[in-house]
Amino acid sequence: MMYFILTFFIGAAVGSFVNVLIDRTISGRDWVRGRSECDHCHKTLAWYDMIPILSFVMYGAKSRCCRTPLSFQYPIVETIVGLLFAWWMIVGFVFFRLVSAPLTVVQPLFWLFTGVILLILLLADLFYGVVLMNVVWLGCATALVYRLLLGCFGAYQATDFYLAILTGFGFYAFFWSLWKITKGRGMADGDMYVALYMGILLGWPKGLVAIMGSFIIGAVVGVILIATKLRSRKDTVPFVPFMVIAILVTLLWGNQIIGYAGL
Ligand SMILES: [Zn+2]
Repeated sequence: MMYFILTFFIGAAVGSFVNVLIDRTISGRDWVRGRSECDHCHKTLAWYDMIPILSFVMYGAKSRCCRTPLSFQYPIVETIVGLLFAWWMIVGFVFFRLVSAPLTVVQPLFWLFTGVILLILLLADLFYGVVLMNVVWLGCATALVYRLLLGCFGAYQATDFYLAILTGFGFYAFFWSLWKITKGRGMADGDMYVALYMGILLGWPKGLVAIMGSFIIGAVVGVILIATKLRSRKDTVPFVPFMVIAILVTLLWGNQIIGYAGL
């Protein structure tokens, strides 16, 4: 139980960093240097202003310095990342520990890191309608290094490695042509890079499950949004969240889906 709470709070702290990273990237500020300050009155924040979730609750969803109401995005993201870490600690660590030593720790860590990357991409597109390219490249790079590492220890075949890269570029080309055909109205141009990442991350045939899944989920949500009149036909709906959800579904149940579909 202690481990659970500790892991949750480490995750919440990472979630807090995720919030800062997204906010500062969107507003074009440097996110490495500089102390945290209040967005409204620019007073430097004390450590007790930055405790994940607790500060938000303690000061009644307002900033302590100038009582400006704060967005619920912060504690929600912190809670989600906290839960992701806690889940990983209890279930995921065993779930992803598929290979033998010396990669028993590397493998679960890689998927935890990937989880955080996917969440950042999802949130940035959902809340701001942008794809953070640095995060996409970081994801691609770690996925490739991770695969190479698996390959070095014989847990991954060279052909699968090339196939994953090919899948990535295939998806990229597919999204690029969609973007060209619709003249950029049907799809944001950042989506093609997330598709590239998806292919590299999952390889073949799991990538195929994820890409089909993202279109199916996107279509279902789109129909619901139009039917409930939350969005009109002309509004663009961010697509990255559907891709991220499809990737998660594929990671958790991909093998069953592939077996069922006879791929
Ligand atoms: Zn303030």
